[in-house]
This record gives sequence, C-alpha cells and structure tokens, in this order.
Amino acid sequence: MWPALTILALLAAGICFVALRRCRQVSEAAREQQQREFALLRQQHEQARAHELAQQQALFNSMSEGVLVLDGEGRVRLVNQALERLFGLTGDIRGRTVMEALRLHQAQELVNRTLLDGQVQEFELDLPGLDGNRSLQVNSAVVLGPDGRQQGMIVVCHDLTRLKQLENTRREFVANVSHELRTPLSMIKGYVETLIDGAKDNPEVATKFLQTIEKHADRLTYLIEDLLTISRLESGQVLMNFQRAELHGVVDRVLSDLESRAAAKQVTLRNEVPAEFAAHADAERLQQVLFNLVDNAIKYGRTGGSVVIGARRNDKKQIELWARDDGPGIPLEAQTRVFERFYRVDKARSRDAGGTGLGLAIVKHIVQSHGGEVWVESEPGKGAMFCFTLPEA
Ligand code: ADP
Repeated sequence: MWPALTILALLAAGICFVALRRCRQVSEAAREQQQREFALLRQQHEQARAHELAQQQALFNSMSEGVLVLDGEGRVRLVNQALERLFGLTGDIRGRTVMEALRLHQAQELVNRTLLDGQVQEFELDLPGLDGNRSLQVNSAVVLGPDGRQQGMIVVCHDLTRLKQLENTRREFVANVSHELRTPLSMIKGYVETLIDGAKDNPEVATKFLQTIEKHADRLTYLIEDLLTISRLESGQVLMNFQRAELHGVVDRVLSDLESRAAAKQVTLRNEVPAEFAAHADAERLQQVLFNLVDNAIKYGRTGGSVVIGARRNDKKQIELWARDDGPGIPLEAQTRVFERFYRVDKARSRDAGGTGLGLAIVKHIVQSHGGEVWVESEPGKGAMFCFTLPEA
C-alpha cells in the first residue's frame, strides 16, 4: 500500500512542478510582451513630442518677428531664426538666461520687470550694427499655466529699422519740398510788394522785376511738374509702354527740342548714336531721360562747349548710351549723390539755372524701371559723362 501511495505522491508533486514552471514561463513571456508594448508606446510618445517640437520650431522660424520663449526660471526654452539674425547669435542659447544669451542689460531688465508685475511690457531698443543702428520694438508677456500660475515668458522683437528709414526719408522729402516751394514764393512776394510800393511807376525797373517774377513762377511750375513725375513713378502709376525704340531718332528729337537752349549758350549738340541701334524701351520716358541729361550738360557745361550723345553695345546684350560734355565736371565725392532727390553740387548755380534738384532722380527711376543702370564718370575740369544701359531690342 505504502509504495503505491509514495509513487502517487511523487507523481502529483511532479505534475505540480511542471505546471508551476509552465505558469512562470507564461507570466514571464507576458511581462516581456508588456515591456515591449510599453517601450513601443514610449517611443511613439517621444516621436510625437519631437514632431510637435519640430512643428513648433518650424512655425517659429517662419515668423518674421524674433521670438524668444523663456521657462519659469527665465531661461531660454525656444528661440527662432529671426531672433538669432536680429541679435547676430551663432551658438545654441537654449538653457541660458537672457543676459547670458543676448548680453543686453535692457533685455534682462525687461524680463525682470515682466516677471515682477505680470503686465505686457513694450519698449524700443537700438542695437548698434555693422550696417548702422537697428531699431527694434520689443514686447514681452508672461505665459500662464492652466492653474493660473506663471510658467514662463514670451518675448517678441519687431524690426523697425526699415520703417524708421522710410519715415526719415519722407520727413526729409517734405522738408525739402517745403523749402523748395517757399524760396521762389517768397521771392515772388517780395518783388510784388516792391512793385506795389512804387517800383511799378518806373517802367524799366518794373519790367526787370516782372521778368524775375516770371522766372520764379517758372521754377515753381518745373518743380511741381517734377514732383508729380517722381510721385507717379514711385507709386507705380506710370505704365511703361515697352517697344522697339530706334535710338538715333529718339536722340534727334531731344536735340531739336533743346536747340534754342544750346544756342543761347553757344553749345554744339552732336548725335553720334549709330543708326542701326534700337532698344526695348518706352520711347517717351527714354526721351525724358535724354532730355534731362542733355539739358544738364547744357546748363552746367561751359559756354561755347559741346555735348555729344553716343552709344555702344556691351557684352550683356544691352545698349549703353551716354551724354558727354566738356564743362567743369563733378567732384568724386558728389558723383554717387547727384542721383539723390534735391542733391546739388552747387545750389546757387542749380537754382539760377532753373534746376529743381529732381532731374537725375527721375532719370534713375526711369532707367531702373527698364532694368538698366545709370552712373556718371567725371574728372573735375574735364567734363562729365552720364551713362545708362537699356535692353537691346
Ligand atoms: P538740377 O535740377 O539741380 O539740375 P539734377 O538732379 O538734374 O538737378 O542734377 C543734380 C546736380 O548734379 C545738379 O544740381 C548739378 O550740381 C549736378 N550736375 C548734373 N549734371 C551735371 C553736369 N553735366 N555737369 C556738372 N554737374 C552736373
């Protein structure tokens, strides 16, 4: 009896052992499977987070404003390319304080102030740069969490440099125009008052005064015409009528329009443009360019001198035209500035000659709208040569 029981007990123990081992193997496999699934989930979560961050960064980088996101301790969490460009940053500034990253006391003060009173802050910052000062408008605001507590800060920098430059140009232009209008007007008023006060009774004096009044009235007319032309060109209201323009013929028309002015100064005008040259241009505007250049060459050239209009083909499939005089020329330092609005080498001479200071600015505009370039070559005392290019037809 006993041996049979022992065998039975041993058998039962064996079965239990095998069953237990099998159980353990199954639960181990299940745990490993669970771990694998968990690792996969974590990997998917990290990938989704990295994707979200990359999307956030791409969004930030597409902004033209410089953006800086700080964490609750005032350290940089995110920065976009526009901000890196504005401040000339090269390395990774994440994890640094604003002072460490930008090296600007004002920026750090702004951060401290924003964190302290929790209000949106705004101020203007001037940054010295290689190409002159940059003006930035900096705005900052705290970022609040769902519990209403400060989680960090966002700083946005808007580059105002171009706007300020435009504003300065506009202000300068208005000041120049007012000055240019006021001068002839006060002259006209002065002469009229003198005439009323008795000069009208002396026919000789009255005629002289009336001629002077006429000269200043003409100057006002030219100025207003040039101002209107410039404003139409700048606002893009002038639609160019590009066509094949036979250059010799265009130059001939300009020279005949200026014949009497040249004769008054005994200036000889010569058209040396080859007969076969043609440009892809708006003939009327081109005539205006040539008129202004030849008119200047007569005005500022020497009495009894000569003005030559010539042309050649360059290696860029362009026609290069020039107006050359044998007058006093233009000093080197003024050669790039003569194309600026109201810039004159000799103010008194220009006004005396009825100049508005806008002729060459108009020339530059028209030539550029043809895709060409304009420049002057001059050696003082040896005349001036104004050159410009046009696409060949
Ligand atoms: P303005 O109405 O005064 O002639 P422009 O814009 O046509 O204005 O010319 C600007 C300045 O450039 C002139 O005031 C003059 O000082 C100078 N300038 C232009 N053309 C010549 C030239 N051919 N020779 C010498 N100086 C010139």
